[in-house]
Amino acid sequence: MNARQTPSSGDRRSPPSSGFSDSRPALFSTAALREHGGPHRIVIVGGGAGGLELAVHLGEALRKPRRGDVPAEVLLIDSALTHVWKPWLHEMAAGTLSGHDSGVEFLQLARRHGFRFHLGTLESLDRGRHELWLSPLDDDEGQEIAPRRAVAYDTLVVAVGSIVNDFRTPGVAEHALRLDSAADAMRFHRLLLAECARAEVQSRGPVEVAIVGGGATGVELSAELVESVRAIAGLGTELRQEAQPMRLHLIESGPRLVGALPEDISRAVQADLEARGVEVLTGRRVTEVAPGHVVLDDHEIVPAALTVWAAGIRGPAVLERLDGLELNRSRQLLVRDTLQTTRDADVFAMGDCASCVPEAGAPPVPPRAQAAQQEARYLSQALLKRLRAHPVEGFRFHDRGALVSLGSRDAIGRLAARLPGGGMRLQGLLARWAYWSVHHAHMVRLQGALRTAVDQIGHWIDRRTQPRVKLH
Ligand SMILES: Cc1cc2nc3c(=O)[nH]c(=O)nc-3n(C[C@H](O)[C@H](O)[C@H](O)COP(=O)(O)OP(=O)(O)OC[C@H]3O[C@@H](n4cnc5c(N)ncnc54)[C@H](O)[C@@H]3O)c2cc1C
Repeated sequence: MNARQTPSSGDRRSPPSSGFSDSRPALFSTAALREHGGPHRIVIVGGGAGGLELAVHLGEALRKPRRGDVPAEVLLIDSALTHVWKPWLHEMAAGTLSGHDSGVEFLQLARRHGFRFHLGTLESLDRGRHELWLSPLDDDEGQEIAPRRAVAYDTLVVAVGSIVNDFRTPGVAEHALRLDSAADAMRFHRLLLAECARAEVQSRGPVEVAIVGGGATGVELSAELVESVRAIAGLGTELRQEAQPMRLHLIESGPRLVGALPEDISRAVQADLEARGVEVLTGRRVTEVAPGHVVLDDHEIVPAALTVWAAGIRGPAVLERLDGLELNRSRQLLVRDTLQTTRDADVFAMGDCASCVPEAGAPPVPPRAQAAQQEARYLSQALLKRLRAHPVEGFRFHDRGALVSLGSRDAIGRLAARLPGGGMRLQGLLARWAYWSVHHAHMVRLQGALRTAVDQIGHWIDRRTQPRVKLH
């Protein structure tokens, strides 16, 4: 299903509709009155690492109200029907993600946890009327499913994540791939398979790939691709003759890979990738992406049948259409330590799309899954307290460390233990287990321990019965 873009708000007003068949007061209306007499409407836009956990926490809490509580309900809106764990998009792109891990249906989670779900893409906001507008929704044949429509809210939480920042580099929009969504990851995977087939059928030699950006995304994708292309090549005849079936160039403009992690970890990551045959170019900036190659700042041409742009993030374009809410230079919504946007106390923002500096002089909360999850836990408590007119303390980020996955059996990083030197380095299978356990804990919160365990068994069986890499 596809969201159609409409040029501006206010041109095609659609009749209000609840979109649901139950008898509760409609969440959707074109006249969102503050004293509407129905339950307080909390609308969360974006069901990612942060937004979905918030919907689950709030849905659970609100269906067991305390005596005297203001009745309230939660609506989650997402432009996709399935929740995808974004930190695993590189595995989806490489084709190494098991079918059991590729997503959870929002509708099923909504029913289980007491919130409602609506499929839609945020297009704009009318803060005066307490309404947000969703783009028209079409099916794959271009037939309309839902027109442009308004959703009324009393409290709005924007959690739409981020997109990759192309720094206005020529050719990126036209010729580079990105990993902003599951659709992007699957497109990359199909193109990777096509390149492997081309190399196999035309005896072209190794597949040439350039990854721009040596942060966690670029590093994790590099390690995963080496394993994946080796497995694909092993199934053919021509590509398997190559010592390296893929020539992968990882290009980073900064002096080292994963610059957010300590230097010794950057060195270990680079050594690991080089041992896998990756060409690591640090201190080199890509000035143009063209069909078949990228150009570096010293005019060197790096051949690349596929180029992935993974150099930093910024907020999605829709944040510029939120009725004048304040943005920073990376197009993230500026929020106070309560996660309320600076210009509207009824609009909150969290996760990658928000910029929060919890204490004067402290660094901004980083755009990471663990930060989005901590904000979700904070906000679920804060919104309940706000409904009960209790005072709310500010959000504090607790850095638990960072881990970078290096293929299916390895990871490296730092756990923020309270040790002299500020943390504990972790590497190898133990680090890989710690990396995996973050997603495991997320799934337990979403679907409970039993269902997650059953999924794990399915995953384990998949690994033994299916090819290591998805081949379609
Ligand atoms: C390849 C990769 C690897 C990563 N690895 C790690 C890691 O190891 N550790 C870590 O901490 N972080 C990692 N990250 C970062 C992490 O994924 C993000 O910080 C985290 O997902 C942010 O959560 P979020 O809730 O803000 O947004 P997201 O999880 O991105 O969710 C945003 C949601 O909003 C929806 N949406 C977007 N636009 C609209 C719209 N207009 N209308 C309606 N819905 C919309 C999307 O469909 C999506 O469901 C990685 C990211 C990538 C890409």
